[in-house]
Amino acid sequence: MAGKQKRSSSEISLYSPLEELKGIGPKKAESLEKLGLFCFADALDLYPREYEDLRCKKQIADLEDGEKAVVTARVLLVRLGRGYGKKRTLHVLTEDNTGRMEVLFFAGGFLAKQFRQGDEFRFFGKVKVENGRVTMFHPSYVRSDGEQAEGIQPVYPLTRGVTQKDVRLCTSTALMHTDELPESLPEAIVKDAKLCSNAYALANIHYPENDDKYREARYRLVYEELFYLDAALAMSKTHGGRGSAGRSITGPYAQEFIKTLPYELTGAQKRVLSEVLSDMASGRAMNRLVQGDVGSGKTVIAAAAMLQSAKNGCQSAFMAPTDILAHQHFETLKKLFSGLGINVELLSGNMPAAERKRVLSGLADGSVDVAVGTHALISEGVKYRDLALVITDEQHRFGVNQRQNLSAKGVCPDVLVMTATPIPRTLAVVLYADLDVSVIDELPPGRIPIITKGYTEETRDKAYDLLVSEVGKGRQAYIVAPFIEDSEAIDGMSAEGLFAGFAKDHPDIRAELLHGRMSQQEKDSIMERFYSGQIQVLVSTVVIEVGIDVPDATVMLIENSERFGLAQMHQLRGRVGRGKHQSYCLIVTCDDSQTARERADIMCSTSDGFVIAEKDLEIRGPGEFFGFRQHGLPQLKMADPVKHMAVAQRAKEDVRKLLAQDPKLASAENAVFAKNLADKYMQAGRLTL
Ligand code: ADP
Ligand code: MG
Repeated sequence: MAGKQKRSSSEISLYSPLEELKGIGPKKAESLEKLGLFCFADALDLYPREYEDLRCKKQIADLEDGEKAVVTARVLLVRLGRGYGKKRTLHVLTEDNTGRMEVLFFAGGFLAKQFRQGDEFRFFGKVKVENGRVTMFHPSYVRSDGEQAEGIQPVYPLTRGVTQKDVRLCTSTALMHTDELPESLPEAIVKDAKLCSNAYALANIHYPENDDKYREARYRLVYEELFYLDAALAMSKTHGGRGSAGRSITGPYAQEFIKTLPYELTGAQKRVLSEVLSDMASGRAMNRLVQGDVGSGKTVIAAAAMLQSAKNGCQSAFMAPTDILAHQHFETLKKLFSGLGINVELLSGNMPAAERKRVLSGLADGSVDVAVGTHALISEGVKYRDLALVITDEQHRFGVNQRQNLSAKGVCPDVLVMTATPIPRTLAVVLYADLDVSVIDELPPGRIPIITKGYTEETRDKAYDLLVSEVGKGRQAYIVAPFIEDSEAIDGMSAEGLFAGFAKDHPDIRAELLHGRMSQQEKDSIMERFYSGQIQVLVSTVVIEVGIDVPDATVMLIENSERFGLAQMHQLRGRVGRGKHQSYCLIVTCDDSQTARERADIMCSTSDGFVIAEKDLEIRGPGEFFGFRQHGLPQLKMADPVKHMAVAQRAKEDVRKLLAQDPKLASAENAVFAKNLADKYMQAGRLTL
């Protein structure tokens, strides 16, 4: 290739392949590709994972136990320790003019070649000082060769065959050319939000000049990331969700249906239903999330909406996360709609071919009003005559893309997402930037509150005594374990182990094991038998987490509670207390740490899903709380929607203002932003997250 000619840092362009630069050979370039670096512009997006602060360089004799420091030292001796091959520990003995320091790399065998006796390195890491022995663990390092680097140096994530120096070369080269980059946000936004420039932000996120400049840079990049995400979501809402068709579903049907129920709706249900109905009547596509704790009565809201749609001559799809739950909804809806002239059908994965064909043709010719099933309902092969409403239940993973798939089918239906997983309001603002949110914050009256009790290893037997006595009264029970098999159970209870033990101790009780590795058919058949009362005790992993409704189940026993999230335990607890009997949630905690006890206490003291969700968020932090991906949102690189809530809100506001002025981002001053946004989040006019 002609491109073999090497150039200097100042001669390359941002979009030159890395190999064009003197000092980067073909092998190195290939390794750098593994970090996502193909051209120099890519390097700008690879943010440092931390910084080597050369303002706090230290000599070995001055190091203090536990501190993180930068030390320049010569290699005296390299020795491979325990382990095999690449897994071997690497010991590098080093010295400066004040003393000696051992540098340790676990599984660092493959690094051995990099350290040669006499070479000088700058090590940056955490130090242990014990009885005069100085050790540094797993530091990042750069060969210094007497070079006097200053200031704050970036520490990048690395991969095999790539050193800090290599990446630093790429980023510092790229930074020489940021004047080629156009401003990536609309100029007006940069001015209004008082952001620093693009080039300034990049320079100071890679090589911060000082703490203030670093903070400015960081603020801008966080803002920018959230601004792009919000804009993409907002555009999908205007172009994908809110269809041109302008269907308007109206009439007194839903309200009349509500009057026929044997109970009165709670105030919260009434409010949410009217929000839903007004969305449906509006002539724009509905995009609404309904949050309501387990048992708050979401199903009947869904039913009323589907009835409204059917009476307007349109079809609805009601999606559940599993076949078994779909089955249950199907039965519930048949009862609710009986005598109302609405044709409900179940479309399930394991139904006979002829039956399936019949339902499919009913959907295509419009004779079926309401289809109940799993995600298969919106898959390729399923055709509707006029699908106007799609409802997903207990489905936290109904992401932006799926909503888009629907509108891509050209149907632009109203979309209603129902979830019992309470998402703290603060987080919902960002996660559901493109959704309207309704909350059912009230339970139907007359529920017997579930009694929640905490147990330890010592008192575990008491929990089982209670469970067995309930079963003796003709009730059913769940035992939930964090793992399937014992081998996975580091020190936790496995469902298999518990099941074997329980069956042995109680040969008279009909118990069964259920776990996620069973086939769907096996799981369904076990759930059917539990539902019909043939099975008394179900020992399982969290596969039963979602909204199955067994009224006679009154005991939920959670083993190794320390291994479950609070929100997850709350979901599990929601599986009981669905009938007319007193129910129990028994929480066995096998870890006497502060947090484990705290969590059990929270469960015992409140049944409010929102309180629990907030606590969960506090304890676990946003990263673990909800994978962003679960919501069909992309991984964010720098922004954290909880930590940066204020920035997130500001960005969202600003996006709204921008789109109010220029809804299609067609104006010249927004051209660069529009193009970047499309490159980042759109394909063929559709949002891809
Ligand atoms: P979830 O919100 O967990 O899906 P469901 O819709 O399954 O809750 O409702 C739980 C139970 O409460 C159902 O048996 C339903 O018939 C009943 N229910 C719903 N709304 C009311 C109400 N307003 N008053 C009394 N019972 C209700
Ligand atoms: Mg439900």
